Amino acid sequence: MSLPLYDTVCFIGIGHIGSSLARAIRVHKLANRLVAVESSPAARETALELGVVDEIFADPALAVPQADLVVVSTPVGAIEAVGRAIAPHLKKGATVTDVGSVKMAVVRDLGPSIPDGVHFIPGHPIAGTEHSGPASGLADLFKGRWQILTPLPGTDQQALDSLTALWSAVGSNVELMEPQHHDRVLAITSHLPHLIAYTIVGTATDLETTLQQEVIKFSASGFRDFTRIAASDPVMWRDIFLNNREAVLEVIQRFTEDLTQLQRAIRWGEGEALEQKFATTRAVRRAIIDAKQA
Ligand code: NAP
Repeated sequence: MSLPLYDTVCFIGIGHIGSSLARAIRVHKLANRLVAVESSPAARETALELGVVDEIFADPALAVPQADLVVVSTPVGAIEAVGRAIAPHLKKGATVTDVGSVKMAVVRDLGPSIPDGVHFIPGHPIAGTEHSGPASGLADLFKGRWQILTPLPGTDQQALDSLTALWSAVGSNVELMEPQHHDRVLAITSHLPHLIAYTIVGTATDLETTLQQEVIKFSASGFRDFTRIAASDPVMWRDIFLNNREAVLEVIQRFTEDLTQLQRAIRWGEGEALEQKFATTRAVRRAIIDAKQA
């Protein structure tokens, strides 16, 4: 496809993911112009100072009508209100996408606001860090990572091809998926691990003061890795759990059963069972390294 892929791209929310994509689009010259809508004056100033976008507005009416591609990059819980705010200003033929970590809720909350003649293609980059805000964006965040798109039946092929080309150009491997399947896969690969990290770090925090200090002092890589994950944005993760309720509850149930099994093996001194389990999980790590997703 010839470059640029879009004339104007508009970001609704220019935090970690929005500003990373804006930077990547600039580096790869995928659009002529980048604009954003952002309510926080401080974030507007930072994004402009860093040159993440060309223009930034508080009012969607001033930014959205120019855009051929609108990227909603706010927490999932804000998406319904965002949809209502941008809908009257969307240009005919434009594409609306998002980067939310759950997809069924986005289809449910944003879908109904999208007017006829505007293409709606939900998406989720499997990339990110625990940092937030426009200064934390990284131009190469998406390089070698998966980008899941969950187009709905009847999606315009040309709009899908252009969006696929954009994510491919920033280095992502694009995969198409049903929204429901996406939510089930992410419940186990991302949402449950975050919940476990929040729990472990929370448990350590609840221990009496002396022990707490020692937890920090002697934190080995295991606990340290959990604290990094548990430092992820509280609003974003609140919204993920509230909006992927069924799939997350299902994997918590399975996880609890497996944990109980390990607990029994420890109680009854079943070393062989423990070793067997740990050998299987080691193989999973090797597979992730082989797939270059480590
Ligand atoms: P972030 O850095 O906190 O940025 C969020 C942006 O949304 C900010 O510009 C924020 O503006 C804006 N926002 C917050 N509440 C809003 C509201 N009620 N109405 C309008 N705008 C609002 O978060 P992020 O990490 O980029 O996450 C954005 C989306 O990406 C989320 O849906 C998340 O699920 C998804 N995602 C995140 C990651 C990750 O690792 N971080 C990975 C993949 C997908 P203010 O400055 O005014 O608050």
